[in-house]
This record gives sequence, C-alpha cells and structure tokens, in this order.
Amino acid sequence: MSKLIQAIRGMNDITPDETAYWRVLENTIVQTIISYGYQQIRFPIVEKTELFARSIGEVTDIVEKEMYTFEDRNGDSLTLRPEGTASCVRAAIQNGLLHHQTQRLWYTGPMFRYERPQKGRYRQFHQVGVEAFGMDGPDIDAELIIMTARIWRQLGLTDLELQINSLGSTECRENYRTLLVDYFGRHQKSLDEDSQRRLHRNPLRILDSKNPAMQALIEDAPKLQEHLDEDASQHFEGLKTLLDAVNIQYQINPRLVRGLDYYNKTVFEWVTTQLGAQGTVCAGGRYDGLVVQLGGKPSAAAGFAMGIERLVELAKHNLVLENMPHVYLVLVGDTSVVAGRVLAETLRAGLPNLRMISHCGGGSFKSQFKRADKSGAQLALIIGEDEASSQTVSLKYLRQDQAQQTIAQDELVVVLKKYFQI
Ligand code: ATP
Ligand code: MG
Repeated sequence: MSKLIQAIRGMNDITPDETAYWRVLENTIVQTIISYGYQQIRFPIVEKTELFARSIGEVTDIVEKEMYTFEDRNGDSLTLRPEGTASCVRAAIQNGLLHHQTQRLWYTGPMFRYERPQKGRYRQFHQVGVEAFGMDGPDIDAELIIMTARIWRQLGLTDLELQINSLGSTECRENYRTLLVDYFGRHQKSLDEDSQRRLHRNPLRILDSKNPAMQALIEDAPKLQEHLDEDASQHFEGLKTLLDAVNIQYQINPRLVRGLDYYNKTVFEWVTTQLGAQGTVCAGGRYDGLVVQLGGKPSAAAGFAMGIERLVELAKHNLVLENMPHVYLVLVGDTSVVAGRVLAETLRAGLPNLRMISHCGGGSFKSQFKRADKSGAQLALIIGEDEASSQTVSLKYLRQDQAQQTIAQDELVVVLKKYFQI
C-alpha cells in the first residue's frame, strides 16, 4: 500500500457531517446580509503581494510573518489572500464601482495565514465579509454593527459582547503616535522583541500585542480616546447614539486597535468567552484612506469580516439541520429496479423539496433496510416484485412505531407531501 499523503497542517477538510452545519450557518448569515441590500462580489484567491503589503501595512503580523507568498513561473511575487478587504477594494476600483456612487458588497471564501494552528486558528480559514463604500457618516457604521447583531439573533447567539473604539482621524493618530513613542520609549527595557522593532516604525501595533507579559504596560499607555479631534469624536458620539437607539449594548475598549493598518475612526469586535483564547468572531471598522492608497479616487469605506470556523463551533447546537433524507427507496428484484427508478423521478418532479435516496447496487431486503436505517431517513419506500406488478408501494416507518402499509403508487405524492409538510 502507498503511504497516505496528508493535508497540510492547519488546512482542514470539512467532512459531510460538518458541511451541513456550515451550509445552514452560511445561508443564515448571507440571507440577513442580502436583506439589508448588499450584493455579492467575487474576486480571486491569489493577488499580487504588493496589494496586501500596501494595504494591510508592512509592519503588521500578517505581512511580516503570516502570508503565503510565492513566485509564479514569470517570477512575479504572488500571495494567497490573507483577508478580503484589500482584494475587494482593488476589485471595486478596477471595475469602476466606486466613482460617485455608494456600494454595499459582501463576499465569502477561504483566507490563508501562516499562523500557529490551534483550536479556532487555522492556516486556511473562512470568512464572510461585508464592505460599504461611499458613505462617510456613523449611520453606515451603525448599520454594519446592527446587521451583525441581527445575524447573532438569527443564529441564537446571545452572549456575544460588542467592543468599540475610535482610532480618530489620520491627524490625531499622528499626534497620538508621538505620545506612544514617548511612553513606550521610556519603558523600552520592558518591550518584547516585536514591540522593540515596532516602537518607531509602527507604535500603534504594540497595543495589539497578544503577549501576556506586555499587557500591564499596554494597559497604562496613553489612550487615543482622550486625544480625538472634533470630527472623530462627533463621529463616535453619533455611532453611540444610534446603537443606544436600537438597544445594542457595547463596551468601549480603548486598547482595541485591530491588527491591520488601514483603519480609522470606528473599529469594533464581537467577542465571546466561550471559545477560549480565540474569542473574536467578527471584526471590522472604517477605512476611509484605503481606496486612495490603492489607486482609486477618494471614497469613504467601512466593513467587517466574520470567522466561519469560530461561528460554527459556537452556534452548532442551535442550528437545525435539513440534511437527512426524508425517504430511502428500497428496490428488490429486477423489475423493481426499473419500476422504482421511474417512480423516483415522478416523485422528484412532484415534490422538489423531497430528499430521497434511491438504492443502487441490489441486495436483499435486509441489507437494503440496513442502509436505509443508516441514512437517517424517516421512511423506507419498498418496491419488491409484488409491489412492482400491482403498481403499489409499501411504507415502513423507520423512526416511529407505526405499522407498515401498502398504497397505490399514484397516491404517493399526496401522502408524502402531507407527511413531511413539503
Ligand atoms: P485574531 O485577533 O483572532 O488573530 P484578527 O484580528 O487577525 O483575529 P481579522 O483579520 O480581523 O482577525 O479577521 C476577522 C475574523 O476572522 C476574526 O475575528 C476571526 O473570527 C477570523 N479569523 C482570523 N484569523 C483566523 C484564523 N487564523 N483562523 C480562524 N479564524 C480566523
Ligand atoms: Mg490574527
């Protein structure tokens, strides 16, 4: 026997018993997003490396150590997308979607980051993301947050905490940056290696450090909240008023800076304590400068992305699966194989929502019933030689105590429709 070639560490198969949860979850999320008038955009999984370096920021964890970057056969540097925002902005500019107009867009798909694999953290993971362009007020920030809150309600998630913060405008961030360099400079000896390196190149990133040894120092750092300019602080007040009006509770977290450089003003995260260290299920914010940074005309922008793996883990027990077959068609004998195939297609035409497995491969009643049972079906429809010649079918209830019955084949659509409410 040849040696099995395993999947790459941190890149998981999603097996049939899992995909059922994924599909219900993704459908619920997408349906809500669509109900707010957002339209899907699809873009490639591979982009030029420069796109991510320029948008996410050279001095960030993602760009410094998490990207899957390779040379293609022409020698161009390409990267598997680590997130969707940069590609979405690139695609929107390139296809002329941003000029003098607003856009509400969503996307979904795999993202790739070379992280240390652990529960809730993978090297290939999946996101649903939303980006809104051309709207610069706090109303659209509020809409994004309100929409995510509605998604949690649909998924039966009640204990997620919303954390918000404002990163201010580019100007007040510059001033704040000086304060930070000053503060961390005075404590240079306590900085870990990453933070030492970031002190002058990107001091805000230090606030995003996950190193427990750094937390006390970060806690005492000057707070951007206290240095917001008029425009940014009005924007933040506007957002809070809207969230209050619809009864969405939030915590202001002054240390919330997000791991990517492009954000300004509003940033937010939805966090749970139920997933251990990997507790953020959704994160986003405003990024007004990015469109220009990537070569477009000025356009306000805000968005978020949610992590599907973490949400499946969290919401699994709330999801009602519509996965099991309703019916398993048992066919014994040569004439039944033909008659059963014909009947099956009549049923599918008459009942488009019927989930039915027609047995293939022959075998005794006993062996076919075993398969029927294992399939999870509620009902076995049986066609043996007798049923085939009399144009009848026998119904055997697999999950409830009810006697087997035989009915005419042409009554079946009506009977099944009523029984399964489909
Ligand atoms: P974290 O702080 O957990 O590293 P992040 O700030 O890097 O997250 P974003 O880039 O904002 O994450 O991505 C949005 C969401 O995507 C996260 O909140 C999380 O739910 C999910 N996510 C990010 N990285 C991973 C990963 N490696 N594996 C699984 N899910 C992830
Ligand atoms: Mg990360």
